[in-house]
Amino acid sequence: MSILEIIKYGNPILSQVAQPIQTIDEEILRLAQDMVLTMHTAPGIGLAAPQVSVSKRLITIDLSIGENPDELIILANPEFLEAEGEVVQEEGCLSVPGIQEKVKRPSRVRVKGIDLRGGERIIEASGLLARVFCHEIDHINGRLFIENLSPLKKALAKKKLRREQPAGTKE
Ligand SMILES: [Zn+2]
Repeated sequence: MSILEIIKYGNPILSQVAQPIQTIDEEILRLAQDMVLTMHTAPGIGLAAPQVSVSKRLITIDLSIGENPDELIILANPEFLEAEGEVVQEEGCLSVPGIQEKVKRPSRVRVKGIDLRGGERIIEASGLLARVFCHEIDHINGRLFIENLSPLKKALAKKKLRREQPAGTKE
């Protein structure tokens, strides 16, 4: 297993709509393992494949950050079946360092996806887990959480990110 590089705001891969996964093959299994290690090491509670430069619809989530194996979720092609309610809470992203902002998200979601054995899985989530699902599914649709901010807050966040990462700087 290897720790992968997490790409940052400004990298065009983060803005691409990621491709569906056709089969859970060796390559996907390895990517999933590497993503879990990368997420735990960061440390973070969620990671989407585009954040490690792979434009595929694969996400990993672990609210326990490695403490409880039962909490690890690895899902290919995740999609919402239902989303309801509204809750505003502070959010951050490993690809958007230094920015923490309040974002409105559904309070409860039902997500369908494919697990690593190739079987369909449906997960009901509320609270922080629902928020992380929304955040990671946004990633595979090429959307960063700062896109959900008000125009003013988004402009301020982007200004701050540009200041910290001047044009021409290598990722
Ligand atoms: Zn993120």
